Amino acid sequence: MKNEYNVIIIGAGPAGLKCAEGLKNSGLSVLLIEKNKIIGPKVCAGGLTNLDAHFDIPSNKTRVFEKAKMYVVKRKYDIKLSTPIKIIDRYDLGQYMLNKLKDSKNITILKETLVKSIEKNRIKTSKGIFHFKYLVGADGASSVVRKYIGLENKIYMGIQYIIPEMCDEFIGFINPKLISSGYGWIFPHKKFTSAGIFFNPKLVSVADARIQLNNFLDDYGLDYSNARYEGGPVNCLFKGIQFDNIFLVGDAAGLTSANLGEGISYALTSGEEVARKIINPDYKIVELNRLLKIKKLQENVLYLFDRLPFLQEPLFRIFFSLFKKTWFQSHYFYLSQITPASR
Ligand SMILES: Cc1cc2nc3c(=O)[nH]c(=O)nc-3n(C[C@H](O)[C@H](O)[C@H](O)COP(=O)(O)OP(=O)(O)OC[C@H]3O[C@@H](n4cnc5c(N)ncnc54)[C@H](O)[C@@H]3O)c2cc1C
Repeated sequence: MKNEYNVIIIGAGPAGLKCAEGLKNSGLSVLLIEKNKIIGPKVCAGGLTNLDAHFDIPSNKTRVFEKAKMYVVKRKYDIKLSTPIKIIDRYDLGQYMLNKLKDSKNITILKETLVKSIEKNRIKTSKGIFHFKYLVGADGASSVVRKYIGLENKIYMGIQYIIPEMCDEFIGFINPKLISSGYGWIFPHKKFTSAGIFFNPKLVSVADARIQLNNFLDDYGLDYSNARYEGGPVNCLFKGIQFDNIFLVGDAAGLTSANLGEGISYALTSGEEVARKIINPDYKIVELNRLLKIKKLQENVLYLFDRLPFLQEPLFRIFFSLFKKTWFQSHYFYLSQITPASR
């Protein structure tokens, strides 16, 4: 195996896989390094809003929901979703994306290889040293590439139960007094149900978040006694994608929305955009900039809610009353043009 590549991508999550796909048949030699043996599995609820619209996520692998139930404390809001939300198992997503790289001649995939450190134009891994012209950090919320560049993080947390029981309702729940501006979910997959909470660990401890999750599931009547319990960080502090010959994508770039915890669409988009930028340095990032506006809007709302803890409950009630309106959803999720017809 050679030890010099035009592009080295660290991490085969959605960001790294999408970047590799974008570099397929580009004439550049690409090394994609992943520490795990199996590509795909990741602590994640797998929810996709319409931000992923231009990606061909396989419809036979997803569950699609056109309605949601949101609980603000005990009050329920039935919401018709302006664009359906999809749920995908991360193993399925990873394997589907990996399959797209199968017939590429210029991409080498190195699994079970941990990147230990980065130096100028080379990386040290558990399987030796590799040299690069361009490096792409697609290594998630605890990115070694981001650390090498010297950027700080803003870490939010998600915890979840993977419940063997299947569920048929798409649920969100909020209890401002107990989980601050975090929120809980029940996302039904094809073979299991993910039930979890996304929160700011500076405002709520993991132990307290878990108690709130248990309380909600007890009230809702979903049995989690045989569930797998897991959790993980996301990074929400975006500082840019290009740092000389090093790029950051997905969670490594701090591209998850601190409001919704949504990161897959951002990972896919940034991976695709960085591949284009490497092939053509004059390429102007457009789609990612659109997503960044959405992230900013959502995080400004979160900022407001965090600053007004005593008003959160009434604010959330107003928010979900507005959320019933198609035009509001469209704007909040997709910054789509608000036309009289969409109202
Ligand atoms: C509980 C929870 C629920 C979530 N639910 C949702 C949701 O419903 N919808 C949504 O859109 N987002 C959700 N997210 C966020 C989402 O999981 C991430 O934003 C998304 O996975 C980011 O993709 P990525 O490719 O940037 O990073 P990752 O998916 O984290 O991939 C990084 C890859 O890099 C590899 N890696 C890391 N370090 C090294 C190293 N040193 N050497 C080699 N390989 C390395 C890892 O093994 C991994 O495969 C959730 C997150 C959590 C924690």
